[in-house]
Amino acid sequence: RKAKDKMPTYKGLEDYKLEEKMGDGAFSNVYKATQISTGKKVAVKVVRKYELNASQAGEKHLNAQFKKKPRVTERANILKEVQIMRGTSHPSIVKLYSFSESEEFYFLVLELMPGGELFHQIVKLTYFSENLARHVILEVARGIRYLHEERGVVHRDIKPENLLFERIPIIPSKNPVKRPYDEEKEDEGEFIPGVGGGGIGRVKIADFGLSKVVWNEETMTPCGTVGYTAPEIVKDERYSKSVDMWAMGCVLYTLLCGFPPFYDESINVLTEKVARGYYTFLSPWWDDISHSAKDLITHLLCVDPAQRYTIDEFLAHPWCNAAPAPAPPPT
Ligand code: ADP
Ligand code: MG
Repeated sequence: RKAKDKMPTYKGLEDYKLEEKMGDGAFSNVYKATQISTGKKVAVKVVRKYELNASQAGEKHLNAQFKKKPRVTERANILKEVQIMRGTSHPSIVKLYSFSESEEFYFLVLELMPGGELFHQIVKLTYFSENLARHVILEVARGIRYLHEERGVVHRDIKPENLLFERIPIIPSKNPVKRPYDEEKEDEGEFIPGVGGGGIGRVKIADFGLSKVVWNEETMTPCGTVGYTAPEIVKDERYSKSVDMWAMGCVLYTLLCGFPPFYDESINVLTEKVARGYYTFLSPWWDDISHSAKDLITHLLCVDPAQRYTIDEFLAHPWCNAAPAPAPPPT
């Protein structure tokens, strides 16, 4: 394949054979790779240390400018991401196998999630059934519970791009769906909940680039000096966790109908809608979705963080504990 020939090579990453690009961000590229010495399949996140303006790249007369390129990824930030990931071990959290760096890059060798950002792809094509949405959000929620309650970590960047899937079992079916924000929807797939057999498999939380430790693991108290912690810090700890819960509400809403709860062409209008918590269960897309699911979303997309569900309240909600309806018999 041509794509394989074009894979870059990195000094310091000789033990890995990069196979294909799985994702990219402003300063990072993620590749599917094989560790040559062990044969293990992994994902390698390569983070640039320095600015490289894409539009200027290749223009030789600008090369002089790059000699003074500033650091874009603060060492302290990447070390925090690495340290937080190193301290986690949970089936719903992408594992960090190793970390290294060269002069120009940081390398994070991660557990490979072959399904990638499946959520995005599915939302593009169809919506999730309530059973499938429950499976996906519970996978994520167990990871969040672990982070919030066992590790004292707030993720702060929960969104579809950072939720990765193990498998892509697609059974083609025809059931075109039209969304309010997009004109055309293509052919559909049918996706099965569950981690075993033909199920969609595990869903894991990735990208700890913005995450933060909010309490001290040893003392089980908010970060800071024990006994001298101000009430606003104690509140801040609780409120900072609630940002993940809001994001979970946005994710769950999107899973169930295929479009996000807050959307506007204008960033100012969108910001205002979010600030007011202005969203609706738009008809006809929400007509057939259960009251229980809507009730749960209402408790997550709640502007007052003190009123918003915590992860334990989320997990205790009846919708999360409903037994999945039996699969329809094969036709
Ligand atoms: P950034 O900080 O640039 O957002 P991420 O860690 O979110 O970096 O990775 C960027 C993208 O790369 C993800 O959105 C996803 O598409 C892909 N990706 C990241 N980690 C993995 C992984 N372990 N397995 C498969 N794909 C991944
Ligand atoms: Mg990301």
